Amino acid sequence: MESLSYDIVILGSGIAGFTAALHAARSKAKPRIAVISKMHAMRSHSVSAEGGISGVLYPKIKKDTEDLHAYDTIKGSDYLADQDAVEILVKNAPSEIKFFEHIGVPWNRDEKGTVQQRPFGGMSIPRTAFAADKTGFFMMRALYDQALAVENIEIFHEHLATAIVLDKGRFAALPTIDIATGEQRIFRSRACIIATGGFSRVFGFTTTAYSSTGDGTALAYRAGIPLKDMEFVQFHPTALIPSGILITEAARGEGGYLFNAKGERFMERYAKNKMELAPRDIISKAIISEIEKGRGFPDKEYGYSYVHLDLRHLDRRVIDEKLPMIKEITIKMLGIDPGDEPIPVRPAAHFTMGGIHTDIKGRILSQEGRPFGGLWAAGECGCVSVHGANRLGSNSLSQCSVWGRITGEAAADYASKEGRPAESEEIVRKIDEEERRISGILESDGSNNPYEIKKMLNKTMDSRMYVYRRVPEMRKAIAEISRLKKEFNDIYLEDRGRRFNTNLRDVLEIGNLLELAAAVAESAVRRKESRGAHSMVEYPKRDDKHWLKHTLISANEGKIRISYLPVTLGGWKPEERKY
Ligand SMILES: Cc1cc2nc3c(=O)[nH]c(=O)nc-3n(C[C@H](O)[C@H](O)[C@H](O)COP(=O)(O)OP(=O)(O)OC[C@H]3O[C@@H](n4cnc5c(N)ncnc54)[C@H](O)[C@@H]3O)c2cc1C
Repeated sequence: MESLSYDIVILGSGIAGFTAALHAARSKAKPRIAVISKMHAMRSHSVSAEGGISGVLYPKIKKDTEDLHAYDTIKGSDYLADQDAVEILVKNAPSEIKFFEHIGVPWNRDEKGTVQQRPFGGMSIPRTAFAADKTGFFMMRALYDQALAVENIEIFHEHLATAIVLDKGRFAALPTIDIATGEQRIFRSRACIIATGGFSRVFGFTTTAYSSTGDGTALAYRAGIPLKDMEFVQFHPTALIPSGILITEAARGEGGYLFNAKGERFMERYAKNKMELAPRDIISKAIISEIEKGRGFPDKEYGYSYVHLDLRHLDRRVIDEKLPMIKEITIKMLGIDPGDEPIPVRPAAHFTMGGIHTDIKGRILSQEGRPFGGLWAAGECGCVSVHGANRLGSNSLSQCSVWGRITGEAAADYASKEGRPAESEEIVRKIDEEERRISGILESDGSNNPYEIKKMLNKTMDSRMYVYRRVPEMRKAIAEISRLKKEFNDIYLEDRGRRFNTNLRDVLEIGNLLELAAAVAESAVRRKESRGAHSMVEYPKRDDKHWLKHTLISANEGKIRISYLPVTLGGWKPEERKY
């Protein structure tokens, strides 16, 4: 098997991975960096980010402050965010927005040239900078252009990582498959940053890309690394039905209303002051409550019950200039021009607050809190934790940029000082084992269709782990996932070839989804309270006395271990969340 050596390997080429790569590449030691992506780098999920990125840009003019950004974020998180991490986010987000300006992102501006900022849910002040409703695309394009121009960054498109090899508590190697040829290739390096995005694809009804299968999170979990707060999956209130395509929160930020089937602006019942700009957890619960109480539109036409997002009262120029992609999507998908007709929407899985357990520097930690040598996580896959139980819209792109830079610089510093782990018998054994595992999967000749298993997994998660959760349903979800995992051990592969074997890629992704879905359900069933995106029907209240803590889950030879970590509090005391 071919083995390639670098100073730093970055697994993932979304906004977090590329930001990390650029900042690492600019460090004095000029490390040699490999950026690895399972698809073409520019198809990373980040390109689909729509509404914008948050940060305090004009404190004097707009009377916004970093403290206010921190308060909004912490309150939005239902007080589960670590407040020291949030302080890092709000302090660094403004300079990251300026950094993106310098590398070519065309932020929307007003006539005076000031960067425009739109309101997003749960914010006290409009704080979201944007490039129309294609923010992620413009940020990715700028990053990709820069990365191509830097000599010490090499991009490996369509290389699928299948395992993370650790040795004596340190990163050692990353086995991958070159999808075009099917060759297995090992990347060795002093340092590795995992930036593989979220895992919302455990659900069927989701706004996320097909590629959001949480691979890095699952590989870390299999390598014995704990995952944190996995029960907190964000359901975005306004996904287009029946496809699940996102209708950005910016549509409400620009003034859109939500109506039930009785023509009521129902948010008045749930968040009188903020209305459609309450945080996502609150609006998603409101929509499902309306539907459950019979005030939604029936599922006859689209197969899903829904409510209306209405933009008809907006100036058409606002739709054309600030929400052009939304208009394009609704016309193409449903033949609906949002200037003439309301848009049918309902909540869909959108973002995963939980992920790989890290400290505030993005270093990956063991269950006992020890950092693994040379190993970081950045972006949606890393739980630093700034979003706690519920992320505020537009805080993710800030997180990806801030921790992209932090981890990139830290990895460069580490790589300039530390040697590469010596080849040990343990490393060789693990790499051989991985090679055999992949060959074994390629020969799978069992009786179950892996795609049916994925369908059933999605159905289980959509029906039993959605916006409102009930204990007996979650128990059923755990049992069903466990059964599906057994069936997955007896699958067949239709394509046994090596070249461009997307069947093999899909199977590896499905294996990852099964691991992560189990971690979500096991973490969720134990948290006996309702906080942010985790709403338990039997325990409808937040319970700070017993549950103001993070969940950690790890797996060892099939056995899970769950423990809890205190939340880092600071100047913002937990209080009742009213909007
Ligand atoms: C439709 C939509 C719109 C959004 N809009 C906004 C917004 O406006 N503002 C905001 O703040 N947030 C938004 N979000 C959330 C935000 O887009 C994501 O959280 C963020 O882009 C994640 O970036 P990332 O760099 O962590 O990972 P990603 O962009 O998901 O990139 C993951 C990378 O990992 C690679 N990878 C994964 N697995 C493997 C593997 N096994 N081997 C090799 N490579 C692998 C992929 O190829 C990819 O390059 C939105 C989310 C959705 C679904």
